[in-house]
Amino acid sequence: MVKMYYDADVNKSFIQGKTVAIIGYGSQGHAQAQNLRDSGVNVVIGLRKGKSWEQAEMDGFKVFTVDEATKQADIVQILLPDETQAKVYYAEIEKNLKPGATLSFSHGFNVHFAQIVPPADVDVILAAPKSPGHLVRRVYAEGFGVPGLIAVHQDATGNAKDIALAYACGIGCTRAGVLETSFREETETDLFGEQAVLCGGASELVKAGFDTLVEAGYAPEMAYFECLHELKLIVDLMYEGGLARMRYSISDTAEFGDYSIGKRIITDETRKEMKKVLSEIQDGTFARNWILENQSNRAAFSARRRIESEHGIEQVGAKLRGMMQWINK
Ligand code: NDP
Ligand code: MG
Ligand code: MG
Repeated sequence: MVKMYYDADVNKSFIQGKTVAIIGYGSQGHAQAQNLRDSGVNVVIGLRKGKSWEQAEMDGFKVFTVDEATKQADIVQILLPDETQAKVYYAEIEKNLKPGATLSFSHGFNVHFAQIVPPADVDVILAAPKSPGHLVRRVYAEGFGVPGLIAVHQDATGNAKDIALAYACGIGCTRAGVLETSFREETETDLFGEQAVLCGGASELVKAGFDTLVEAGYAPEMAYFECLHELKLIVDLMYEGGLARMRYSISDTAEFGDYSIGKRIITDETRKEMKKVLSEIQDGTFARNWILENQSNRAAFSARRRIESEHGIEQVGAKLRGMMQWINK
């Protein structure tokens, strides 16, 4: 088992009395900033003028331009979209970093794939909640925390790991448990998970099931319920108690179908393809494609977004969800 860190393992002096600049005030930014403030840490926000700036001020923070926030900070936590981090870093952050400051991230992409190469005299850490931002905040406010990750890419001061742990404590993660990883492992497993299982794998599985039923003449509403809506109920059971709890809760007929048919859907060929997907993450092929896609102003990405929104499952889904008013409450 990997080692887990909890509140008792943290030396809070590595963050108390320090100034943390949270760069970006979106999903992660607002949550980490508010949790740190409630943990007694001095927080400033770095942004450009716009919607987030107004929100951060309404939430009672001192907001500065990115360069001004960076100049004051002992710890600079970069919570900008991954695609814009390198541009903002080289324009506004790098030259304003205090000597001996800590540069921190919640995802390793830019450092691991060399889009951001920090100077040798700063600590470079990862401190990331394993959770979407709104939950990071809600769970903390309820007195708990979401699990998190820390990693050290560069230890200029000799304190990088302690600083990462203290930061993770400030956002509530050591209440739940924090795991030590590396930038490489965090980046590659995150990309693989979202591509093969959580996002790419799950959405294609849902669409393939839906299309098969609809093409065979079944009502799209029935296909939507079976292949998309019910997925949440199954995943909730897995989340609570693993595959065993899910299989305990479903009927024996469903369990028999699970065992006898699952491998015909996720075949040896699918597993072989997953290995290929992983190797294209490891060798930088995926990162290069995504960076180039952004440099072309997302021509293919935007087209794919439109095509996907036109799929029948989205039409019928919008109609059905409109009738299930409890869903978006
Ligand atoms: P969001 O897209 O939610 O927020 C981005 C923020 O950056 C916004 O406040 C935006 O402000 C600001 N911003 C964008 N461009 C600039 C710019 N040029 N200058 C200044 N500010 C700018 O990002 P996320 O919170 O989703 O992601 C942040 C990081 O956290 C990423 O590294 C991501 O991988 C990581 N992460 C995210 C998770 C999540 O749940 N979303 C989970 C774990 C990690 P504006 O209103 O002006 O656009
Ligand atoms: Mg990701
Ligand atoms: Mg059923």
